[in-house]
Amino acid sequence: MTPLKVRFWGTRGSIPAPGKSTLKYGGNTSCVEVRHGDDVYIFDSGTGIRELGMDMMGRNPGQAKRGHIFIGHTHWDHIQGFPFFVPAYIPKNKFTIHSVKSIGDSFENIFRRQMGINYFPVEVGDMASQLEFHHIDTRPYEAEDAVVKTIYTNHPGVNLAYRLDFPGGRSVVYLTDHENHAAFSGPSELALRQDRCIEDFCRNADLLICDSQYTDEEYELKRGWGHSRWKDSVDLGIKAEVKRLALFHHEPVRSDDALDAIAVEARSIAGKRGSSIDVFCAEESKGVAL
Ligand SMILES: [Zn+2]
Ligand SMILES: [Zn+2]
Repeated sequence: MTPLKVRFWGTRGSIPAPGKSTLKYGGNTSCVEVRHGDDVYIFDSGTGIRELGMDMMGRNPGQAKRGHIFIGHTHWDHIQGFPFFVPAYIPKNKFTIHSVKSIGDSFENIFRRQMGINYFPVEVGDMASQLEFHHIDTRPYEAEDAVVKTIYTNHPGVNLAYRLDFPGGRSVVYLTDHENHAAFSGPSELALRQDRCIEDFCRNADLLICDSQYTDEEYELKRGWGHSRWKDSVDLGIKAEVKRLALFHHEPVRSDDALDAIAVEARSIAGKRGSSIDVFCAEESKGVAL
């Protein structure tokens, strides 16, 4: 079977958080690479994509680079690394950038605007690689060997979660910038149904990468900001019967020690509920083979 590997290049939410207290889990914002053989799939282009780009440049030197970049939404922490993605400046390379229409304008226009003259010295159009913008909706489609599925999340503005299903029944779900519906609006019939839709979307995934930004205490102050408590993610992973759960989009103030403690508590919760789920906190530059 073709090897399938996932590597975290940026695990932080909201804003980069470099420093002594975040050395282990990393300070870069959202970027995850999925490699299926030689095919490269990238979730989000937060600051982590800069180091991914440098790593890609070292692979098979002289060979053209290809890849699919899936953007959930255009909040800063999911796009701000793209201007520093070196492979996009090399003429023979080609990248397809997938996302959905946002509020008031096309995804392509919004994405390009972050590199407008008032924000950055080089425009997207000056990047010499072939960049193709693929405007999508929630219908499944194919990208190389993967079937791509999407679902809207509960987040201010418009945001998509992605699921990639590969031959051999292996699957990765990238669900970040999402707030549990029932936690947000109360356990109404509608909210519970919406949460079940998310659960079904994640069903039996080999790896669920999930927004886990807040503790219970933080959530009370930030309800409605579009992020989940890490305990909601553990609950979702158990209910959806995923094999592995990566707690992701870490709050910028969360130290390595605090994330270590969350991982221990998350495993204890799963054990008490009789779940065999492998739960961990996503760690920059670490990977998972599926
Ligand atoms: Zn975010
Ligand atoms: Zn966001």
